[in-house]
Amino acid sequence: MYAKIESERLQYIRFNQSKLRSEEYIHLRDAAKHDGHTKQIGKLTILPSSYTGSPRHMHSYAQDAIIYVRQYGRPDLFITFTCNPSWDSIQLLPGQTSIDRHDITARVFRQKLKSMIAFMVKYEVFGKVRCWMYSVEWQKRGLPHAHILIWLYQKITSNEIDKVISAEIPDPNVDHELHEIVTKNMIHGPCGILNPKSPCMKDGTCTKRYPRTLIQNTITGNDGYPLYRRRSPEQGGHVTTIRMHKQEIQVDNCWIVPYSPLLSKTYKAHINIEYCNSVKSIKYICKYINKGSDMAVFAMEPKHTTETIDIDEISQYQAGRYISSNKAIWRILMFPIHERSPPVAHLAIHLENGQRVYFTEATLQQVAENPPPTTLTSFFTLCQTDPFARTLLYSEVPTYYTWDPSRKGFARRKRGQPVEGQTNCVQSCPDLSSPLLYPQ
Ligand SMILES: [Zn+2]
Repeated sequence: MYAKIESERLQYIRFNQSKLRSEEYIHLRDAAKHDGHTKQIGKLTILPSSYTGSPRHMHSYAQDAIIYVRQYGRPDLFITFTCNPSWDSIQLLPGQTSIDRHDITARVFRQKLKSMIAFMVKYEVFGKVRCWMYSVEWQKRGLPHAHILIWLYQKITSNEIDKVISAEIPDPNVDHELHEIVTKNMIHGPCGILNPKSPCMKDGTCTKRYPRTLIQNTITGNDGYPLYRRRSPEQGGHVTTIRMHKQEIQVDNCWIVPYSPLLSKTYKAHINIEYCNSVKSIKYICKYINKGSDMAVFAMEPKHTTETIDIDEISQYQAGRYISSNKAIWRILMFPIHERSPPVAHLAIHLENGQRVYFTEATLQQVAENPPPTTLTSFFTLCQTDPFARTLLYSEVPTYYTWDPSRKGFARRKRGQPVEGQTNCVQSCPDLSSPLLYPQ
């Protein structure tokens, strides 16, 4: 059903292309001036970035993630939260399995995800959160999971990792409930010689690098990820038995996926938590959190020279896409696949008269004569009248001014902290909104 809804939504975009025609202003002006021959200009079929999940949309999120990193450095925690179909909240009728009721699992997962973000942001369980973002993904046939990035004010130091993250089987005598949750949800595989057919196996080794080495203390690894403490049974580590293929297998700490005792106990699901401590892991994570639906994020720009190449972005998007039932429900219920805080202000960058303008045949003459201002041209206008704006860099403008999209101009912020030595001037709390910039 969702495939139908999606193709309807895409049809709408296709039939409304006349409202969306875009071209760099300089080319539009030249074309309108010289021969009035405007049928040829403008890309033919555009899938705008406002369409959730489209390549432009995913690309703009990837850019935002990189902006957080530029502004605040490495994230502190990388959490993968997977939907657990045996949650108590998922009550099914006799004979049903969770696969029959994707509507329920999607709703419950959305609630749990919202609750978990609030748990960390509002209740500050790992300390005060500077910013966060998540994106939701689906396995090929199945349940949703969310990748969450958390930036904290107080960085977690390497000797505090053990307080937040554990990769060991808990003592069942100390915390029986946690022991149950971890043995049920947080054991990888087992794969390798115990189970060579495990999906994580490739060319005889586990792609997730299990079983891990047992070590007495948490140490920082070479690749940016720390090696978490995994004590061997001789060093006091616990072992547990699990059933696999009607066989009892004894597993020790080398099979445990790193988890947060607090989050696992609260949310009772597969929640992997990793500590990030190098720039290298960030690059990987930013790609990972925004990699989109089983298709590469790509951008193709026809060269606007003398000829215009026809590109049908909607067909490109629809080709080779896979929609799982759960994803379909998620999108029908209009749940977001990505959220973040604080917001990112997008500033335009272009050459003189190189901005992208949108026009229809009716508005063409008007747009060609009088292009709407962009954030960049407005910044120049602002500098002519406002001496304070002249002291700012372009990327600093959103801290002190708000952009009015209907009026297309900057106005001074009304709320915020007063700026020293300036009258009638406030700045937004720098932690809520930050000057961010990238080419559109
Ligand atoms: Zn494995």
